[in-house]
Formats: sequence, structure tokens, C-alpha cells
Amino acid sequence: MNIVIFGSPGAGKGTQAEIIANDYGLKHLSSGQLSRQMLNNRLLGKKIKSYMDKGELIPNAIIIKIVKDYIEKNKREKGFIFDGYPRTLGQAKELDRLAKQSKTRIGLVINLKLDQQEALKRILKRSKSSGRSDDNLKTIETRLKVYKKLTEPILGYYKANGILKEVDGRQSITKITKEIKKIIKEVEKKK
Ligand code: ADP
Repeated sequence: MNIVIFGSPGAGKGTQAEIIANDYGLKHLSSGQLSRQMLNNRLLGKKIKSYMDKGELIPNAIIIKIVKDYIEKNKREKGFIFDGYPRTLGQAKELDRLAKQSKTRIGLVINLKLDQQEALKRILKRSKSSGRSDDNLKTIETRLKVYKKLTEPILGYYKANGILKEVDGRQSITKITKEIKKIIKEVEKKK
């Protein structure tokens, strides 16, 4: 099964994606992590950094290639958990096309719900230890705005596809994992 873990910056996507990937033998695809790994790339590093440091989206021509390469490299895995991708409706449709090509599909989208104020608080707290140059107030505010404007609207698309489930992101890590696992179980049962 392929799962998308959805939510605003700071909602806890990365934490949950890692746990679920481990427990279900899925490959964790974090587009943010993959992008950070590209920062030393001779050709694209500077360009990628300029977008990330502003909190803006990396252009599709670059990010889609990064994601596609990672999928191709791991195509023998039994499934992926997507974290941070898709971030626009265009990326969501591209992901569906990609999945179809590989004769698979996105079976579940989990929206980790967290309000913007709480998200901001969490990222600011994390910024003390993350070492990420984009964890500063100005950039976080842009990231949250970009999320509202470009990313959140994807939820309508997934809802219409009937694969969207919501989880309250204010709960503890353990509680959230438990809920996600329950949802996965229900979805697998229906297949
Ligand atoms: P967060 O979710 O906390 O903002 P991420 O690590 O997911 O952190 O993303 C960090 C940055 O990486 C984003 O602000 C953006 O510049 C870039 N990025 C990550 N994923 C994408 C994507 N799917 N499309 C465009 N840019 C992306």
C-alpha cells in the first residue's frame, strides 16, 4: 500500500511517517529530506537552497525529478509513505500518474490536523535543535502561508477520491500512531 501523510509544517508528518514506514516495511519518502540532501549538489544545490531558505516551494521541474528518481531507485519496495509530497494539486495529479504507470495507487491519505498557531509554536521550539536554516520566524510564516494557499486545497481532491482520513495532530505521538494504525487496518480490510 502507498500512503500519503499530509499536514502543515510542524504537524508531525516526519515523525509518524518514520514510525509507520518501520512498522509496515514501507519506504519513507520525505521530499524535504531529499531536497536537503541535494544542497551540496554542484548543479542544483544553490537553486534549491534559495527556495528552501525563503520557505517557498522548489519548482516542479526540480522536485518532481528528485521524487521520481527516489521512487525509481526503490521500486522494488512494497510501498511508499509520502511525507511532504505532494504539496500542490499539480504534484498530487503527477503522483497519481506515476503510481498508475507502476500499476499501483495511493490507497490512503492521512491528514494530521494542527492549527497554524500550534504549528508555529512547535517549529519554533524545534528550531533550537534542528539546525535547519529555514526554521526561523520569517521563513516559517511563509511556509505556513504557502501551505494554506497551495497545499491545503489538495485535501478536496483526495476527499473526492474517497481516500482521505483525518487525525487530530494535537495528540501525543503514541496516540497518533495508534489511530493511524487503526485506520490502516480498516482500509486493508476493505480491500
Ligand atoms: P516542513 O514540512 O516543516 O516545511 P519539509 O522538510 O517538508 O519541512 O520541507 C522543507 C522545504 O523543502 C519546503 O519549504 C520547500 O522549500 C521544500 N520542499 C519540500 N517538499 C516539497 C515539494 N513537494 N514541492 C516543493 N518544495 C518542497
